[in-house]
Amino acid sequence: MSEIRYDRLHDTHVIIAPERLHRPDCGIDMGDREGLGGKKCPFCEGNEALTPREIFALRKEGSYPNEKGWRTRVVPNLYRALQIETPHRHHYGAFEHWEGFGAHEIIIDTPRHVTSMTQLTTQELVAWLETMRARVADLRHDRRIAYIALFKNEGIHAGATQMHLHTQLIGLPFVPPHDRHRFARYIEHHRVTGEALLDTIVANELEEQKRIIASNENFLLFCPYASAYPFEVMIAARRNVGQIDTLSQGAMEQIASLLALALERLRGELGIFDFNLSITTPPLQPNNTEIAMLSPDEVCRFALRIMPRLYRHGGFEAATGIIINPVAPELAAKILANTERADG
Ligand SMILES: [Zn+2]
Repeated sequence: MSEIRYDRLHDTHVIIAPERLHRPDCGIDMGDREGLGGKKCPFCEGNEALTPREIFALRKEGSYPNEKGWRTRVVPNLYRALQIETPHRHHYGAFEHWEGFGAHEIIIDTPRHVTSMTQLTTQELVAWLETMRARVADLRHDRRIAYIALFKNEGIHAGATQMHLHTQLIGLPFVPPHDRHRFARYIEHHRVTGEALLDTIVANELEEQKRIIASNENFLLFCPYASAYPFEVMIAARRNVGQIDTLSQGAMEQIASLLALALERLRGELGIFDFNLSITTPPLQPNNTEIAMLSPDEVCRFALRIMPRLYRHGGFEAATGIIINPVAPELAAKILANTERADG
């Protein structure tokens, strides 16, 4: 049984999850990007019996759950950090913990054994977005879940332990302080200016024209002004298009086309690269948070962030939370915006 412990010194939480020790990382040959070491991949089509039973899948008509015929598939994480059970909160002096309540799901992005997101087609990226939309919309009904983290670890340096493309969803019974502070800033900015913070940033990026890679009707692809990671890119909504669980089909297609472009350009420049990807989600249950989120869609815009992991972080980053990025975002954007490589 895992536990969520409150770190009173740093105003944050940690998840103590002994189950995670048994993850398959130890057996992986680090030079083997396939990551199979001769074993059957549990995420490949035809190996459905090797995973827990599916929670959700985008399936071909006439196919059955836990059998072949899917485009994306969602299963509970076998080495989960949290599980859906009634949470109990415990106090002892300065110590405070919950039994590890929450959701921890794996979205298998494709039935094909591909190990880089750059290998997905635009149609597969749309199916991936549709799957997250369905899962977040479903979990929103569980009043005990206050916040959902949606992220991807691709490659050893980004923390991946299973090489077959997948995405993780973790639902928490509280809003992490990092995100609570972020939403408080969004609300404050909206109160002062009447605008969503990301709208202001997007407007500034469009004025400056120094870090933009591409755009379409509803979204902007750019390297953020204060990029923490070299070649970091963001796809941000240019207007209110809702959140991951309320995006329209058209909006998902527009995101997928910019995402495909970003991945292709990044791969052209960096080769196969390790990265983390995250999607912004506002708190689900305003009543459960300390923020009065009257209308999350007004203050929070959809955003997707790709953080290439080209360098390891050291003590300075761990101690201060400040990341040193050796590549200026203006240079990264210039390189990624050019279709043809300017060699030499
Ligand atoms: Zn596989």
